[in-house]
Amino acid sequence: MRWRGQRESDNVEDRRGVRIGRPGIAIGGGALLVVLALALLTGRDPLVLLEELDSTQVSVDRGDQTGEQYGAPADDIGRFVSVVLASTEDVWSDLFNKHGRQYREPRLVLFSDAVDSACGYASAAVGPFYCPGDDKVYLDLSFFGELDRRFGAPGDFAQAYVVAHEVGHHVQNLLGVSERVQRARQRASPEEANALSVRLELQADCLAGVWGFHANQTRNLLEPGDVEEGLRAAAAIGDDQLQRSSGRGVQPESWTHGSSAMRSRWLRRGLESGDMDGCDTFSASTP
Ligand SMILES: [Zn+2]
Repeated sequence: MRWRGQRESDNVEDRRGVRIGRPGIAIGGGALLVVLALALLTGRDPLVLLEELDSTQVSVDRGDQTGEQYGAPADDIGRFVSVVLASTEDVWSDLFNKHGRQYREPRLVLFSDAVDSACGYASAAVGPFYCPGDDKVYLDLSFFGELDRRFGAPGDFAQAYVVAHEVGHHVQNLLGVSERVQRARQRASPEEANALSVRLELQADCLAGVWGFHANQTRNLLEPGDVEEGLRAAAAIGDDQLQRSSGRGVQPESWTHGSSAMRSRWLRRGLESGDMDGCDTFSASTP
């Protein structure tokens, strides 16, 4: 990606290296909510995540995490994320304006190990997530290393896709989609609830693609190979792929994010059309 020299966002809180408080504090209901409700990019099993959360037994010193005192990142990877976030701000402000709406910019928190959010405590083990309670994207940068080494999806556009996907959840929140889906899930059977979750996640993938299309139009951000990087990342974290690589059988009824084919198809649709109205994963007969 051609990101150097581009505008950086004012909305990044660099909380990396913030000291974790006293160990051994019980994980409360908030953390449970994070585990169950947050949009996990990797689609990991909530029970596994709960165990991971529990075993880390972290508590973050609440008093220091109000946000404003955390400065902008100064290192390369932090500034890269900041440029991507700034680009999502420009693109979504513009697209919302064209739809007669006002875009509210989310903030993005860089953290290491564990973080306190309006959705509760979360350890880095949960992966990147968006918390609708405080309009913030939470990102532990070690996930990028995992994307590269564990999921075989290296590259800066793969990383940008991760950020854009979480911002996609923010867009869904502003549009009221998340709330409608949440309500429908409460009335649904477990299988139906999973199917709704898949459509929500695929829409976030498509919206990430919409961002990529416009970022490229206005800032010429993409280089040859970038689209392929993104598609590879989307495929690498498809539920079928994750189930296969963990030795579990492929069970479509348990999917929460969609298969590799679905995820790359919806990302591609956004990337090629740039049309957010084309991201209606809920009307598609098969996502
Ligand atoms: Zn998601």
